[in-house]
Amino acid sequence: MHSITAVAQRLGLGVVRGRFRCIFPERHAHGDRTPSVSINEDKGYFKCFVCDNVKGNVVTLVQLAMGITREGALKWLKDDSPSIIRDSQKFFLKKRTKSEEKPEFFKEKMIFDFLSLLSPIQPYSMIGWWLAKRGIYKATWDKVLLRCIDDYNLASRKLLEKYSLEDLQIGGMFNSYGKLRYGRRPLIIPYIDEKNRPFFFQARAIDKSIQPKELNFQGTIPFPYNKSALDGKPGTVYLCEGPIDTLTLLQRGFSAVGIPGANTFKPEWTSLFNNKKVVLCLDNDKAGRAGEERIAGLLKGAGFETRSFGLLPEGEDINSWFTRQL
Ligand SMILES: [Zn+2]
Repeated sequence: MHSITAVAQRLGLGVVRGRFRCIFPERHAHGDRTPSVSINEDKGYFKCFVCDNVKGNVVTLVQLAMGITREGALKWLKDDSPSIIRDSQKFFLKKRTKSEEKPEFFKEKMIFDFLSLLSPIQPYSMIGWWLAKRGIYKATWDKVLLRCIDDYNLASRKLLEKYSLEDLQIGGMFNSYGKLRYGRRPLIIPYIDEKNRPFFFQARAIDKSIQPKELNFQGTIPFPYNKSALDGKPGTVYLCEGPIDTLTLLQRGFSAVGIPGANTFKPEWTSLFNNKKVVLCLDNDKAGRAGEERIAGLLKGAGFETRSFGLLPEGEDINSWFTRQL
């Protein structure tokens, strides 16, 4: 069977990320500027969100797009078959390359290259002030290798010199518009392991108006933030929501790790907490409390002792609580 995406491309429908503009743009607001027809490549099916009768398989697609009969569509598909097969193969090949044929540590290498383009945080920079206001100072931010994107265009250009745009998109570094992500979130917080190797990062906005304030690197979260605190030695470790709360405790000499969000703790991480008593320090809000309950259940189930920090007033987090005490 033909790839429906390849057929749609041959029909000049301009498929972008599994979508194209409706064959009947006049039925749509703004001439269907934001494409309404989606393709399900696996099922060989297409469907318009607005028009009831714009849906079907490859044959229907040819009929509608060319305004011909079913017999005509079948004939067109047959006559054009060699080209469609060639295009389909190209398409399937591309799809497979995307998911499977990247070398091992492809994403990790890209993270490493990205971080090496960035500068450490300067004490009198905007980000430096922002961190200091939160009671987090240079010795701490240097230790955990915080970085900032000080020249967004230069970082984009350097990455494009090293990688193709397609690879940067597959790696999750660039968005589908061909732009480096994280543009308005200049504080880069790498997740490094005990050997100082970065496997993941979060980008943080320092401008309050930007939501969400944190953007994760696209990929699996390999381990909690500041993993090196999970060294297997007997002791207490504080488990925080987000890197800023983690850094707040590290700054004050506590051993702490973080999870990117209240709901991101993974069951397989429990084994990392060997020999640790865990104090849960998630935000005192609905999500944080639910997260603590879930994590406590997972850790207890794996034989670990946990308790809640329990001192935060409603709506507060570790950083706001400590900062208020200063
Ligand atoms: Zn339509």
